[in-house]
Amino acid sequence: MPGTRKSVLILGGTQDASELAGRLANQPNLRVITSLAGRTAHPGAIAGETRIGGFGGVNGLSRYLTGSQIDLLVDATHPFATKMSSHAAQASRQTGVALMSLVRPPWQPVKGDDWQSVPTLDAAREALPTESRVFLALGRQYISAFSARRDLHCVIRMVDPPVEILPFASMELILGRPGNLSEETDLLRSRSIDHLVCRNSGGHASYAKVEAARHLSIPVIMIDRPAMPVGQLFQSVDDLTTAIL
Ligand code: NAP
Repeated sequence: MPGTRKSVLILGGTQDASELAGRLANQPNLRVITSLAGRTAHPGAIAGETRIGGFGGVNGLSRYLTGSQIDLLVDATHPFATKMSSHAAQASRQTGVALMSLVRPPWQPVKGDDWQSVPTLDAAREALPTESRVFLALGRQYISAFSARRDLHCVIRMVDPPVEILPFASMELILGRPGNLSEETDLLRSRSIDHLVCRNSGGHASYAKVEAARHLSIPVIMIDRPAMPVGQLFQSVDDLTTAIL
């Protein structure tokens, strides 16, 4: 209907989600709200409105969708944020609010890559040779699986300093975000890393470490994506933007 504003809730926490908000927020017929879990102390600026913190499960999200008169729910969370995506699918069914999902294609190995694909964090831990010097390019909630391997030297990167003591036998903590190819190459080379562990997130934002490993002939233990429910599926911000506008 001309003149009515449509309300879009973007489940965010990714660069894609912020980019989508930037494309949609200046449309006069849209109200755009991005939801963040609140994991990062200082998230970057996001166009439109933001809300921070969990909804309180499926029912909480359903209540939010109804109470805030949301017309469209967009799941643009990280491909490994399985719980939130599952809640989004269930809340969409409960409320009848349409769900669109942005799922970027997984990375594929190219010439020069030396990948071992594994299904889980535990399998990644077991795949590492004895006394590896490993860069764990994983979120903070995923690294503890590796602390049981007392023979490893683990290099860990976090955006915010940890509040807890990290229980590794031998480790280095780097505070920062993923860098470009030259920065990631420097990181791997300067720490004499011989294995990279990461998840197959897809997209450009965190791909440089994989390229750096290729350039340095470092084997990669690649954790495959879990299956999760999706709404109407889009592979890029461009496709999703076109569908919404
Ligand atoms: P998750 O395990 O799928 O979700 C756990 C709980 O966190 C959800 O049940 C929900 O709480 C809350 N939550 C998650 N995403 C939310 C959002 N966008 N807005 C409001 N609440 C949210 O999620 P996760 O893997 O911890 O990821 C958390 C956030 O970090 C997501 O926004 C994701 O896009 C981003 N992120 C994750 C990764 C990753 O590796 N998983 C990487 C980069 C960015 P309630 O049940 O209370 O609603």
